[in-house]
Amino acid sequence: MIAVQGYEGRRVAVLGLGRSGLASCAALAAGGAEVLAWDESPEARAAAEAAGVAMTDLARVDWSLIAALITSPGIPHLYPAPNRVIAAALAAGVPVDNDIGLFFRSFATALSMEFDQPPKVVAVTGSNGKSTTTALIHHILQAAGRPAQMAGNIGTGVLSIAPPLDGEVIVLELSSYQIELARALTPDVAVFTNLSPDHLDRHGGMGGYFAAKRRLFSEGGPDRAVIGVDEVEGMFLAGQMAQAQEDARVIRISSGQKLTGPGWNVFARKGHLSEYRRGKQVATIDLRGFRGLPGAHNHQNACAAYAVARTLGLAPRLIEDALASFTGLPHRSQLVAEAGGVRYVNDSKATNADSAAQALQAFERIRWIAGGLGKDGGIAALAPHLGRVAKAYLIGHSARDFALQLGETPHEICETMDRAVHAAMDEAQPGEVVLLAPAAASFDQYPDFEKRGEAFMTAVRAGLNDAG
Ligand code: ADP
Repeated sequence: MIAVQGYEGRRVAVLGLGRSGLASCAALAAGGAEVLAWDESPEARAAAEAAGVAMTDLARVDWSLIAALITSPGIPHLYPAPNRVIAAALAAGVPVDNDIGLFFRSFATALSMEFDQPPKVVAVTGSNGKSTTTALIHHILQAAGRPAQMAGNIGTGVLSIAPPLDGEVIVLELSSYQIELARALTPDVAVFTNLSPDHLDRHGGMGGYFAAKRRLFSEGGPDRAVIGVDEVEGMFLAGQMAQAQEDARVIRISSGQKLTGPGWNVFARKGHLSEYRRGKQVATIDLRGFRGLPGAHNHQNACAAYAVARTLGLAPRLIEDALASFTGLPHRSQLVAEAGGVRYVNDSKATNADSAAQALQAFERIRWIAGGLGKDGGIAALAPHLGRVAKAYLIGHSARDFALQLGETPHEICETMDRAVHAAMDEAQPGEVVLLAPAAASFDQYPDFEKRGEAFMTAVRAGLNDAG
């Protein structure tokens, strides 16, 4: 655990007692603060009390006696409207922060001065690919024998990490919600993967969403910034961070563009990753055989992770070996089985059309399992990618809507995962991929996308056992 610095003997309120809230309570207490904890859900309060945290109703406190309010990413603090406890703290002029802000304010001071190589923090944000990129950086560091921990949205909460070791790298996945609120943000290396519309109601539109994410790059300024320049926002950010075009503090990455400008660039094209510095090629890696990183979107993630590893001084060949041995994260382009020339891939995390589009572009001939709780617009945006779909097997609430949008593409309404997997398995031909990429949320049939992915894997394994 990281003990929170700067609040010794002072009162700090914590609203929201999920994983990060409970970790904040413990880390604040370890730093000598008096914690006033509350959650609006009775179940969450009961669980926190069972864990030994005393409750204080934050609707009835005197804010003039409270030094700060720490809140959780799920609680709106501004748009569409602030939560009422947060509104009261804001009205009283009490600073509102989160566990990420507490982490950065405490991390440097928590370190002793005796390190040969002080620990570093790498922070990853972006609309898609955050988890994969974070896990990939962590995997590369481990493969290289560097001590590393993974935290934030993935792994443990930031304040729950073990005390850092000499030369250790802490790799954080940070969402726009987490970044927007954090009052201190000082990573050594910051990564911006890409930007597409998401969570716009919480950020007051696309400009607000971009502004939230780019805070990672303005507060304190990271030593190195790895920035995806496939959208105009990334290009803009890279231009703002670099003092001159050749400024090597900014590494531009791309999936699809050849970047040979005067600075430091890493890009992937046609399955090959290239690193260029000052217009000259430094290294190249053939990514096509890497089973854990299928598709252009994963090649973008590989570029980002490669760039981070290079800033940490790792050699290209070592990074190449680590990329080759990455097995992927569960529920993201996860290879579940291969039998009779058919691959079974679980991309249950593809909860919107954008991420499903990436999955549909990653394979040649697809038996596509889709559906669930569809988002606005359904799968209309996927029309350009349907040429690769041999047939769609539709499940869940949106099955009929998706069927209408599929038009000429062969499809069948299967309702349940089991039926969809059986039908796809029966009909799949050698060389094809049975792909779960729902383009929809899971909540109509499952508690979360993980459970949906597990249901797919169980059905695939049962089907293969029956067949074998
Ligand atoms: P995040 O943590 O940002 O949600 P994940 O790595 O969990 O990202 O991936 C979420 C979904 O987006 C998955 O369906 C995955 O296949 C897809 N995806 C992964 N990387 C990218 C990328 N670079 N661009 C677009 N989509 C991606």
